[in-house]
Amino acid sequence: MSGISENVASVLARVASAAAAAGRDPSEITVIAASKMNDAQRIREAFASGIKIFGENRVQEMLEKNRQDAYSGTKLHFIGRLQRNKVRQVVGVAELIHSADSLPLVAEIDRCAEKASLIQDILIEINIAGEASKGGFPPAETASVLNEISSFRNVRVKGLMAIPPICSDPADNVPFFEAMTQLFIDNSLKKYDNVSMDFLSMGMSGDFEAAIACGANMVRIGSAIFGPRNYNI
Ligand SMILES: *Cc1c(COP(=O)(O)O)cnc(C)c1O
Repeated sequence: MSGISENVASVLARVASAAAAAGRDPSEITVIAASKMNDAQRIREAFASGIKIFGENRVQEMLEKNRQDAYSGTKLHFIGRLQRNKVRQVVGVAELIHSADSLPLVAEIDRCAEKASLIQDILIEINIAGEASKGGFPPAETASVLNEISSFRNVRVKGLMAIPPICSDPADNVPFFEAMTQLFIDNSLKKYDNVSMDFLSMGMSGDFEAAIACGANMVRIGSAIFGPRNYNI
């Protein structure tokens, strides 16, 4: 027994009650299963249990599992740090790239999408806690970044994403979640070409309920669905 189906049921129930507690319809919250280091069979199991979207972190791993048909019937997002030289392999494969964290990266996504004759949906990653170890734009640059990106014709910004610090108490991240929601709302009011502020992607296994309470409508959940990752294999 992997426990995946029980975990999925429990996560979906927790998402629904967090949404209800915030006065929101649970259907407004999109759950992404962060499936790094979990094989095709475990992804199929999560899909059979009710997960509709999977998020991958590493390009090679995603392509390998894609070849094994891990995601058939599901949607695939890219949520990990993306190097410019790997963009070509992700554009058009991942429906949404959560981790657009620099203008040169966005320019490369645009170039590859144009070559492939498609429009790539992206989220703008914000380094909300100003951590040196993490990618993302400084919060204060959000408006100017959106303005700049609005001139790219083959990318469409669908919202914002953040990875706040790892915390032992989810309450520690509430100020970051609240700051993200404020950025999301402020920038939703401005009108930019090729930008629609549909998704606010934040919240992971340890803090997704707090994120939803603060306004997240997309959560990325790994270990609460698949169990702890074994980094030693
Ligand atoms: C792994 C990962 C997650 C999920 O992490 P858990 O703590 O296992 O839920 C979410 N977002 C990103 C970008 C990740 O790499």
